Amino acid sequence: MGAHPWLRCYRCWSQDLEVQVHYEGIHRIDPQTGERAEVVDELQEAVVQCLECMHDQPHLTFANGRVEAVEDRWERMIAGTPWVASCTVTVDADDVETCSGPEAREFFTHVRFHKHEESSRIVVHLLVELYARNIEEATEVLEEAARGHLTITSLAEESRPPAAAEDRH
Ligand SMILES: [Zn+2]
Repeated sequence: MGAHPWLRCYRCWSQDLEVQVHYEGIHRIDPQTGERAEVVDELQEAVVQCLECMHDQPHLTFANGRVEAVEDRWERMIAGTPWVASCTVTVDADDVETCSGPEAREFFTHVRFHKHEESSRIVVHLLVELYARNIEEATEVLEEAARGHLTITSLAEESRPPAAAEDRH
């Protein structure tokens, strides 16, 4: 076990990780030297990935040149097991794009079908895979992540994918 229990893949516990950093910056140019000078605007996006199973690592962020743990997330994802929920979420039609993007990256979501109710509401039937330490935590995570009225029809614990590392805690 290394110095940081969180510095590993949440699925297979491999420590073989890499970070993809995308940097976009606007800098002034020093008129004397031609060098890049003060920052006008900059944007950095980083995704940590496991080289063993190729999954993104949403419990890890990259800041100031090093990978850091996401505090409210890593314990659940490293110590937890996968859970699969079957559920429906009722959302405003305008909100449907919120289930993608960086915040949704920790969930494997499969939309089975959706139907429109009245004109402005959509009922989405989903299969969601998430990581949690127990059923209460799994329910909490689903409720927090849902952007609309949530109904959980089933929630079952799965077995963890085979570990890449030999040490288990
Ligand atoms: Zn992995």
